Amino acid sequence: MTPVCLVSSDCESGASGKVAVAVDYVKAIYRSGGTPLVAAPAFGCADPARVAREMLSYARGLLLTGGDDIDPRLYGETHPHPKIAAINPVRDEFEMALAVAALELDIPILGICRGAQVLNVAAGGGLIQDIPGCVDGAHAHRISAPRWHPTHRVRLAHDSTLFRIFSKEVIWVNSFHHQAVGPVAPGFAVTAVADDGVVEAIERLDSRFVVGVQWHPEGLAERDPQSLSLFNEFVNAVRGV
Ligand code: MN
Repeated sequence: MTPVCLVSSDCESGASGKVAVAVDYVKAIYRSGGTPLVAAPAFGCADPARVAREMLSYARGLLLTGGDDIDPRLYGETHPHPKIAAINPVRDEFEMALAVAALELDIPILGICRGAQVLNVAAGGGLIQDIPGCVDGAHAHRISAPRWHPTHRVRLAHDSTLFRIFSKEVIWVNSFHHQAVGPVAPGFAVTAVADDGVVEAIERLDSRFVVGVQWHPEGLAERDPQSLSLFNEFVNAVRGV
C-alpha cells in the first residue's frame, strides 16, 4: 500500500459552499509516491476531535494546507488586528483537532503557510497577526508573483530536517503571507528565518517528521526538484510509520 496522507481542506459555509484543496498539494503528494486523502471539515459534528481521530486512522501522515488567517482568539489575543479580513471557525476548529491528534500520535506532519501556523497554535504557540504592522524593518512577504517564482531568501538552521533536505544554508522561497509564527510552541524550534528575522519554518524536536514552512513548496515543486524533495521526505516518513 502506498503511504496515505490526509490533506486538510478549505471550506465555505452556506448551502452551495464548497470544500476545496488547491491541486498543487495533491499533485506533489502523488509525484512523491503518496496517496492524498482530502479531509472535509466536520460540518455540524458535535465532536470534531473524534472525527479528526477517525479520519487519521485511515492515514499515516497529515498535510496542513494554506488559507485564510486563524482566529486570533485561538492563540490568546484579545482583539483581531485591523488587517485580519476573513475568519473561518469551522475550518479552524477542525484543523486544530487534526493537528492535536496527529501531534499526539507523532505521525509525520507537513504544515504549509497557514498550515505551519495551525501547527504552532495547536502546539501552544502564537502568531504575529500582521507582519507589516507588527515587525519593524520587515521586508515584503505578501508578494504578487507566479506561485513558482521565489522572491526572498531564508536561512536554514544546520541541525534541521530542512537543512538535511536542501543541503544548503540559504535558499530562495516564494512568499504569500502577512502573518508569521511567534512565539514558537514549546518543543518546537525555528529552523528557517528570512533576512528580516521573520520565522519561515518550525520543526518539532525529537519527532520523526513534524515540519511547518511559511512558504509554498507545492508551488515551486514543478520547477524546483529540491522543493519536491521536501514532499518526498514527508511521504518517505509517512511510509516509515
Ligand atoms: Mn515570507
